Amino acid sequence: MSRLSFINKHLGKYRYLLLSIIIATIIYAGINLLSSLIFSFVIDNVIGNSAIENPLMAFLASILGGVDNIRNNLWIMAIVLVIVYICVNLLMSYRQRMQGVVSEKLVENIRNDLYSHLQILPYAYHVKTKSGELIQKCTSDVDMVRRFFAGQLCEIFYIVATAIIALSVLYSINLRLALIASVSLPIIFLYSYFFFKQVQKQFLLSDEAEAFMSDVIQESLSGIRVIKAFNREKYEVQRFLNTSKKYSDITYKMIQYLGSYWSSSYAICLLGILSVVVAGIFAVRSGELTIGNFTVFVSYQTMILYPIRQLGRIMTDFGKVTVSLKRLVDIINEEGEDLISGEKPDLLGDIEFKNVSFSYDEDHVDVLKDIDLLIKENQTVALIGPTGSGKSTLIYLLSRLYEPSKGDIYINHHNLKDINKNYLRENVGIVLQEPFLFSRTIMSNLKISRPDIDENEIYDATSIAAVHDVIKEFDQGYDTIVGEKGVTLSGGQKQRVAIARTLVKKTPILIFDDSLSAVDTQTDAKIRKSLKEVFNKCTTIIITQRVASAKDCDNIFVIEDGRITQSGTHKELIQKEGLYKRINELQTNTESEVI
Ligand code: ADP
Ligand code: MG
Repeated sequence: MSRLSFINKHLGKYRYLLLSIIIATIIYAGINLLSSLIFSFVIDNVIGNSAIENPLMAFLASILGGVDNIRNNLWIMAIVLVIVYICVNLLMSYRQRMQGVVSEKLVENIRNDLYSHLQILPYAYHVKTKSGELIQKCTSDVDMVRRFFAGQLCEIFYIVATAIIALSVLYSINLRLALIASVSLPIIFLYSYFFFKQVQKQFLLSDEAEAFMSDVIQESLSGIRVIKAFNREKYEVQRFLNTSKKYSDITYKMIQYLGSYWSSSYAICLLGILSVVVAGIFAVRSGELTIGNFTVFVSYQTMILYPIRQLGRIMTDFGKVTVSLKRLVDIINEEGEDLISGEKPDLLGDIEFKNVSFSYDEDHVDVLKDIDLLIKENQTVALIGPTGSGKSTLIYLLSRLYEPSKGDIYINHHNLKDINKNYLRENVGIVLQEPFLFSRTIMSNLKISRPDIDENEIYDATSIAAVHDVIKEFDQGYDTIVGEKGVTLSGGQKQRVAIARTLVKKTPILIFDDSLSAVDTQTDAKIRKSLKEVFNKCTTIIITQRVASAKDCDNIFVIEDGRITQSGTHKELIQKEGLYKRINELQTNTESEVI
């Protein structure tokens, strides 16, 4: 999608409103210029006696009953002027109000579309893109577009229309003087354009300094417990003062730059006007120009020069808008996941990995290497292996957060590639290694997969996860709001709520990715026992680093450096030389729970 079609799409039906604003702006630019011509007409043709040269004024005089009539009733001209001003005012206020409507609707559509699109972008995209960066795009880039449509776009039309109409009138009055009047226009435009291009670098530095300052605030606030525990308050304050000073220095420098720009560009504008005044006086004295037309020259020059100076600034901002737009279009152009096509077979069956390899980066080493794995229907199996051996990656492949680089995965003899992704994820319940709970009530966290679920089912799940009694003891019970950083729940409690949340889904496949690491061994055993009793129609994969959590499983797979190196029951594996035997000895002898 190009930038233009991006805007067009998000404007929707408001594009016609935008068009009407642009037309109103051009008309109002024209009417606004009329007042000077009327003054000139009064001076030269009504008060003075010269013949009317301007066809527009000749027309005006004829509908107002001729010059003699106007001369005897000067109030007519006053009324004409009032009408002109009222028209200008009405059009201007129409433009102001409607610009607000169009720009707000446009950014509302963009924001909503961006957010929905971010939701369907693949997991891999979110892993490699910093969330801060995305937030920045969804806020400041969108705001940049809003500001452009809330004023600058129509301002460009206003300035260009004013310049074209005014210059054509001036050229029709006096060629030589119009040339003199034109000279200063490109000068002031280029001066302000290049100034703001230069100053943009300062803006960028100032933005960066501001972002850095908010990073410092955010980090120190979220790490406040560590700061207090290590008596780092003074250091943190000093760190903030330094960043704050840097931001002030840059901003101060920018204000100075801007100050000198406004005064110097003002001087250039004055020089431009002065040149027209001086040349005009000579032209009037030599009879080449009427006094009325002289006033037209001076007022038009003023009416064009200042806006042209503004145009330089708008054009540099326009550069920024196109960059912002490109960043937004890039997000929208990222291909989202196809969540809706594919088969929806029964997923209670064997899970089979056939010769599966995978690497996160195409030119990087394989994280999983030739994995062959058969997990029988209804079995509970354990996957045990050191940190970084590829256990979580294997699970990501099973829920199609990533696709294998080689080989195939089958569930109940259906190739994973052919299965509808939404359906697959509904049916594969994963408790992630690092549970994330939303800052909502515990109940709404638990209901996330099934909002209409009967609350008794929730209590069953929390009982299995050995967290029901804990929640009951909170003052607000299930209505306790989980703190912003999960402060109100301990690590183990959070993990157990996350387990219950997955159990609520009642999926035929259940996966615990190191999910019991933060609970003690007894609770771990208790949870596994009640799971077995209640979830008897379910294939379960327990990823763990504890032999205690694995030993009751029907089958155990040992994974080392992306390869399955051993498999069998606990009894079989402790007989064989290998990692499992070593871990077992280490953990039973020293009661250490970590490999
Ligand atoms: P485990 O769960 O067994 O601790 P993982 O599956 O998380 O191991 O990781 C296996 C390997 O893949 C590790 O070497 C890890 O550094 C790497 N890895 C994990 N996630 C990514 C990623 N998003 N991009 C690149 N490498 C990754
Ligand atoms: Mg892991």
